[in-house]
Amino acid sequence: MPLGFESDLCELNIKPANQNQTLGNWSCATGLTALGDMNFTARNYQDLIDHPVEIAYFTKLEFNVRGISHKMAITGRHNANIKCLAKDLVIIYTHHIDFFNGIVPFDKYLFLTLVRTNAYGGLEYKNSSSLICSRKEMPVLGEHNITPEYTRFLALCSHEYFHAWWIKTIKPDSFHQLDLNTENYTQQLWIFEGFYLIL
Ligand SMILES: [Zn+2]
Repeated sequence: MPLGFESDLCELNIKPANQNQTLGNWSCATGLTALGDMNFTARNYQDLIDHPVEIAYFTKLEFNVRGISHKMAITGRHNANIKCLAKDLVIIYTHHIDFFNGIVPFDKYLFLTLVRTNAYGGLEYKNSSSLICSRKEMPVLGEHNITPEYTRFLALCSHEYFHAWWIKTIKPDSFHQLDLNTENYTQQLWIFEGFYLIL
């Protein structure tokens, strides 16, 4: 951590190590505020580290939910039906935004999705999520069957997105003023990672 500079405005400039090289077809995907293709800014250090940055050759999909721009940048070998994926994600995210009465803690949202042979997991950030899934969990081009594997991926997308409210905005007291010099613990993940209400 940059001690003494925690509150300073941050600027991120991404350049090839060799100035004579270019990034070719690669581009940069991040939820940071862009100043240019490879220039970004963050309010302070904590804001900077709450935005993952990926540089790669992406399959990109973009859709609007309740007027808000949502993007997914996919890396890894896949044959995904991204139109089908976007259509299903709009249904899920419309539900989440409406669940919180249209109060949305971000002005844009990005998913960074890495497709592997056999993997599954995700991590939430302020206005983005990092997802890892298996190839068989992506909807297949030319088909629109909701398979159990595809449902599992949609559940991951739903879970990490919900965290934009339920842990990034509504959060344990100890998460409001993080001490970045050490781990910050909570015993409340039982409620923030999912629970059932039996009425
Ligand atoms: Zn979670």
